[in-house]
Amino acid sequence: MSNALRSDDFDVAVVGGGLVGAAIAYGLGRVGSRVVVLDEGDMAIRASRANFALVWVQSKGLGMPEYAGWTVASAKKWPTLADELKREVKLDVHLQQPGGFHIALSEEELERRANTLKRFHNQAGVAQYPTEILRRDQVMKYLPEIGPDVVGGSYCPLDGHVNSLKLFRALHAAIAGQGATYLPGHAVSAIDRGGRAFRVRAGSRTVTAGKVVLAAGNANRHLAPMVGLKAPMKPERGQIVVTERVKPFLKYPVVTIRQTDEGTVMLGDSKEEGTDPAGLNLEISSVIASRAVRTFPLLGKLNVVRSWRGIRVMPADGFPIYEQSETHPGAFVVTCHSGVTLAAGHALTLAPMIHAGRLAEEVSAFSARRFDVQEVA
Ligand SMILES: Cc1cc2nc3c(=O)[nH]c(=O)nc-3n(C[C@H](O)[C@H](O)[C@H](O)COP(=O)(O)OP(=O)(O)OC[C@H]3O[C@@H](n4cnc5c(N)ncnc54)[C@H](O)[C@@H]3O)c2cc1C
Repeated sequence: MSNALRSDDFDVAVVGGGLVGAAIAYGLGRVGSRVVVLDEGDMAIRASRANFALVWVQSKGLGMPEYAGWTVASAKKWPTLADELKREVKLDVHLQQPGGFHIALSEEELERRANTLKRFHNQAGVAQYPTEILRRDQVMKYLPEIGPDVVGGSYCPLDGHVNSLKLFRALHAAIAGQGATYLPGHAVSAIDRGGRAFRVRAGSRTVTAGKVVLAAGNANRHLAPMVGLKAPMKPERGQIVVTERVKPFLKYPVVTIRQTDEGTVMLGDSKEEGTDPAGLNLEISSVIASRAVRTFPLLGKLNVVRSWRGIRVMPADGFPIYEQSETHPGAFVVTCHSGVTLAAGHALTLAPMIHAGRLAEEVSAFSARRFDVQEVA
């Protein structure tokens, strides 16, 4: 018996069920698409289970001003997404957006931070929002537990964080509630077009759909050329340390230190070249821990309960890639770092564009055409 589904079964096949694929699938279901999600599954290396869970705005978009605007828009839409998920699947993803800090442990660090913000805000056309450089005594009003090594920091009122594992679960529950088909254990190996529909192959199974969205993280690099797209990626490792639970002391997330809704404190997160997720580098853990203890000395009394290394999904220049294929209209690639921050933008803004079959001007800067190298004679 054939394993193929009926050719008109799905409007959209989403390849990849991490945070990006799940947010897109949720957003498509919201506007009425019949969706199938083909996913390699839980044993795959997923950034979505390894991240630091910030919904972060400050200085995102240095080098691409449009990314700053897209990030701000997503952060502002986040409360809508969190409320919807709470209503639909009764899961609180613990969104908090009180503003957040970069902490400086020396005058040089503070000056570097101030220069970065200056360069960021001086970019032509960049979204303007408040970021302030604060001296130690001002930081202390927000973060009374800082240690003597803290000289100051930058603060942006738009920054926040969530419980990203609960987000992951809530999105999948919401997709199921919408009636979408989720197929774990279905690593896609080939995509082609037969007539008006795409045939998406995973093992012996073939799914057909009117549109296909490649949201398979770093695997997009290999999948994109199957439908005339490209997604140059440079995956990056990141290491995180988690402490035991402690009574709430940190009201504002710091870019490398945040207290979760469950009371644990996450410390992170390194940026290392490479794609090998195996093995923890204890020297890196030690640098992470020592900076954290200098920032908040009370952390020195806590036990570490978990530590892991994850692989960031990282486009070659660090910015999102959103594109519809010219040769295979109806095929889209959606890939980015910061899939937690951008989840609201993906679900509430990008997915409706895909549903309508056209990416709007608002996201044109994220086309992969920016990687085309012009030959100069
Ligand atoms: C250490 C670390 C810290 C981070 N911190 C933050 C943060 O604070 N804030 C933030 O916004 N972001 C953060 N991120 C980034 C964020 O986690 C990612 O942007 C996001 O999880 C990417 O989701 P994704 O779905 O693209 O990729 P993934 O989670 O990697 O998922 C890819 C999915 O595709 C599937 N797949 C792969 N190949 C195939 C195939 N051939 N067929 C079908 N399915 C396939 C896999 O099974 C997987 O489910 C961090 C990441 C790391 C690693």
